[in-house]
Amino acid sequence: MNYFTYQQDQLYAEKIPFVDIAQRFGTPCYVYSRSAIEQQWRSYELALASRPHLICYAVKANSNIAILNLLARLGSGFDVVSAGELARVIKAGGDPRKVVFSGVGKQAQEMEMALRAGIKCFNVESIPELHLLNTVAGQLHCKAPVSIRVNPDVDANTHPYISTGLKENKFGVGIEEAETVYRTAAGLEHLQITGIDCHIGSQITSTGPHIDATRRIIRLMARLKSAGINLKHIDIGGGLGITYADETPPDPSVFINEVTREITDDSIEVLIEPGRSIVGNAGVLLTTVLYVKEAGHKNFAIVDAAMNDLIRPVLYDAWQQILSVRQHISSPKRAYDVVGPICETGDFLGLDRMLTIASGDLLAICSAGAYGFAMSSNYNSRTRAAEVLVDQDQMYEIRQREHIEELYRGEQILP
Ligand SMILES: *Cc1c(COP(=O)(O)O)cnc(C)c1O
Repeated sequence: MNYFTYQQDQLYAEKIPFVDIAQRFGTPCYVYSRSAIEQQWRSYELALASRPHLICYAVKANSNIAILNLLARLGSGFDVVSAGELARVIKAGGDPRKVVFSGVGKQAQEMEMALRAGIKCFNVESIPELHLLNTVAGQLHCKAPVSIRVNPDVDANTHPYISTGLKENKFGVGIEEAETVYRTAAGLEHLQITGIDCHIGSQITSTGPHIDATRRIIRLMARLKSAGINLKHIDIGGGLGITYADETPPDPSVFINEVTREITDDSIEVLIEPGRSIVGNAGVLLTTVLYVKEAGHKNFAIVDAAMNDLIRPVLYDAWQQILSVRQHISSPKRAYDVVGPICETGDFLGLDRMLTIASGDLLAICSAGAYGFAMSSNYNSRTRAAEVLVDQDQMYEIRQREHIEELYRGEQILP
């Protein structure tokens, strides 16, 4: 179900017209739907209910503590990639025992913080990382729970920048070396082997690649078992895609049913790390048209949001639907490049879009809930946007728009 819909000629977020949100909080502003987030999470939960399982929401997709808190209330776990993300989860009331820590470059102090917090496991990506983790755990007189991130060498058929499961990627250890890495881990005193994981990429719109990856991991687990290494969980990563344009990814429950069919041992705990598929279509970026510039054959709509607010269009060549908040049903449409005020040609939110636009109009950039605000920056010394969460007929400012003084907080002029 879509929670951003037109009623008469006005676009709504759940039961609130976007014009009201813009009036109260200004633009640019990210708007999220609580119901949309919860519905996606529950779709995963439902499909996994019959087995031991844990959904570890990938915090990097959208790390606002209000959103983490909503998921924590549902019982979610979390996948973090830094000490900062772990701190956010704890601040949001998440249970550290349901946290897995991923990432190729974990530092000693991050390991220490995570061990003290008592996380569920470290997804370890290399042998040197195993040794460092063993040392840090030794200093704290504890055993670090580890899962090895295996690179199953499957092609996820997605954008090269978000494909992570091929041999040539920096992530994980190759499936051929995995046995050696597990043996190394088994020989280290302060490590406790608990599971195995993989994450093959992002915005994957069919189940095939995950099924392939899972089959390879299951075969590896059988080999490990005969070598005396027994694993308690299998983590199939995240990566399920969403509809931005005309993609037709499976629903999370269908995806889970198809992938977990490969896991015949019902006693093994299944972990997943979805990010985009939970929050992606639960958010839009709301922006105001500042100027309309009609330059011969090309029309530009210059808006108050920019690539610092939403970098996906230029970074990944991503296409995101752009809707007029007020539908102009009878007026003719023209093609516009929707661009921001930043001094870069790459500063666009959408190219060649058929719209009816006048200055002062509001536009909604759809599917912006994942890798939107989380990837935003202060480039051009622009303050970062406000974030608003809508719950039925209520709206909450879950992050204030930044103030100008915050831009140079911590900076110092020479004496
Ligand atoms: C980014 C990431 C995820 C989440 O990916 P989505 O495509 O947003 O579901 C999960 N696990 C790891 C290790 C990641 O790096």
